[in-house]
Amino acid sequence: MAQPWRGLLAEYADRLPLEAEDTPITLGEGGTPLVKSDPLSAEVGAEVYIKVEGANPTGSFKDRGMTMAMTKVASSGCEMVACASTGNTSASAAAYATRAGFSCAVVLPAGKIAAGKLAQAIVHGATLIAVDGNFDDCLRIVRELTQTYPVALVNSVNPYRLQGQKTAAFEIVDALGDAPDIHVLPVGNAGNISAYWMGYNEYAGRTTAASIDDSATRLEAVASRTPRMWGIQAAGAAPFVAGHPVADPETVATAIRIGNPASWDYAVAARDDSDGLITAVSDEQILDAQAILAAETGVFCEPASAASVAGLRHLAQQGQVPEGARIVCTVTGNGLKDTATALGDRAIDPEVIEPTLEAACRALGL
Ligand SMILES: *Cc1c(COP(=O)(O)O)cnc(C)c1O
Repeated sequence: MAQPWRGLLAEYADRLPLEAEDTPITLGEGGTPLVKSDPLSAEVGAEVYIKVEGANPTGSFKDRGMTMAMTKVASSGCEMVACASTGNTSASAAAYATRAGFSCAVVLPAGKIAAGKLAQAIVHGATLIAVDGNFDDCLRIVRELTQTYPVALVNSVNPYRLQGQKTAAFEIVDALGDAPDIHVLPVGNAGNISAYWMGYNEYAGRTTAASIDDSATRLEAVASRTPRMWGIQAAGAAPFVAGHPVADPETVATAIRIGNPASWDYAVAARDDSDGLITAVSDEQILDAQAILAAETGVFCEPASAASVAGLRHLAQQGQVPEGARIVCTVTGNGLKDTATALGDRAIDPEVIEPTLEAACRALGL
């Protein structure tokens, strides 16, 4: 009989740093679809799967880290959390703080957050502060704030965030039977690429720089190998491609509009140790990828999420995709968070007809 998914802390308890006193703060996150895309597979000459992280409770992969981090905050006795956010971290933190009974402060770059994400933070009761600056300024402020006051930091510099996020790699191996050849994902603050690399390594019986203990290696290996990690940045916010932080990141993909990534060293290790790469794509390529993923595969993701698919298409055009390789692209967040960008200049104005079958048939050309 099918078992209902219990949330990733329960499903992967033996591979997470949980103690007896930890009571999971959960919304049933994880267990997201892994969807094979025939159109993309045909386009790039490989076997391409989409990990649909927009299917998490608040619509992005941030929930994986938040369930773990918030559970640890609860055990610590702290009752207020804070985060800097390009949108999805605040949406997730606000929801999980509500679940835990905590208050939540979110520090955002003014005017740079998609409306759907702001709405989430507001309906969950978080206190919003808009900063006249970028994400990197916001993260600096909350770091200082949480060092000075009894407020827990739930950004991905909180190591428990990556611990939760690594479970996405477990799910992929569990679904495919082994690690893929290549894993492609967007890179912003670089926590997620570090977390996936950690997860793939732990399932292969190894640890990485980002691992916080070696318990992973005491469990039996599930995977025989690890994938090459391909990280994709937006061209206007591509510090890894430049080789140094960039001062004024700019891209339509606001969730990866970050110039000074917090998990720099882990991400460089993931790239180099996996024989991978980190490259950049233009905003136009990102929006094209978002559109074709929606129109051809049936997955509606937000612009930052589409960076993975845009990167894969771009690298395929350059002849860098090995024929027949098994490839997983993470699409990190749900398209419903930012419908304005997705629609572009397309209006929502369907033809209005008389309330009859005949009129409907006429309008449909039947
Ligand atoms: C946070 C986020 C990213 C970037 O992830 P990092 O861990 O910061 O690299 C990408 N896409 C979406 C939708 C996000 O919310």
